[in-house]
Amino acid sequence: MANSKYEYVKSFELEDEVMLLIQLNLPNLILVRIDGRDFSRFSQVHEFEKPNDEAALNLLNSCSAAVLGEFPDIIFAYGYSDEYSFVFKKTSRFYQRRASKILSLVASFFAAVYVTKWKEFFPQRKLEYTPSFTSKVVSCASPEVLQAYLAWRQQDCHANNQYETCFWMLVKSGMTISEAQELLKDTQKQQKNELLFHKFGINYKTLPELFRQGSCLFKKKVEETVKHDENGNPVKRLRRKAVLVHSENIAARSFWNEHPSLYN
Ligand code: ATP
Ligand code: ATP
Ligand code: MG
Ligand code: MG
Ligand code: MG
Repeated sequence: MANSKYEYVKSFELEDEVMLLIQLNLPNLILVRIDGRDFSRFSQVHEFEKPNDEAALNLLNSCSAAVLGEFPDIIFAYGYSDEYSFVFKKTSRFYQRRASKILSLVASFFAAVYVTKWKEFFPQRKLEYTPSFTSKVVSCASPEVLQAYLAWRQQDCHANNQYETCFWMLVKSGMTISEAQELLKDTQKQQKNELLFHKFGINYKTLPELFRQGSCLFKKKVEETVKHDENGNPVKRLRRKAVLVHSENIAARSFWNEHPSLYN
């Protein structure tokens, strides 16, 4: 309904363009983080293995790979637990860089894929209710800000995983929840590692990278067979596919040098 007398309400929409400041050499890159709503409950109702349910993490990674496939401007993603951060290339003009459009698209697509793929990762378990995800935009004005952001999220992954690993080992060995919480209160990183080693014979460093480091997704060009010709020979094409990588320190210069697309 163009030129309707009611159209003036459009001017009441919130302005939320993430400015493209390339000219000022301040390329505000767009980053979207989604996070499962009340996944403490969702993980309980769906009997996730504690502290880390591998199938649930694989499902999360698979949904994020689908997000990378759906939105060409996303160049990198990092996630763990019930969260994922998606980094857009700095020159992106996707949806005129409007934050609300972009974050709602990413979250709704992610949630829809999560439900669609549930059966693939939990063939024996019914999806008891519909999950939902919050999302927000963070604008990163320099590679340093993005590096700090990634360091922050990966530290959170590490600290949570270390705490949860100790907590669930204690609870599974017979402690009550409050006893385990009391014992872990105010303990440092080193003390938690020692507790795991001396009490349970677990060397924290040998736990799966998927749990300790979280997961990264990059787009890589890979050759794929798309069909076979009349002689039965494979017809190959270069496709951009999401590739899963684990790394100890995703904010480190060495990691960025290995993956120059991060500077993109
Ligand atoms: P909010 O709505 O504020 O995000 P939340 O309960 O989702 O609430 P988070 O801080 O996001 O709080 O924590 C996610 C929760 O989901 C954690 O408590 C974690 O135990 C659980 N969880 C997520 N993924 C897994 C998994 N793969 N295995 C086991 N537990 C998981
Ligand atoms: P955009 O991404 O810009 O929103 P769009 O194709 O979704 O693009 P809309 O203006 O939102 O554009 O129009 C929605 C389209 O979906 C219409 O063209 C309409 O034909 C189609 N559509 C939606 N619901 C129905 C329905 N119930 N029956 C038939 N067609 C429908
Ligand atoms: Mg959550
Ligand atoms: Mg979370
Ligand atoms: Mg539409």
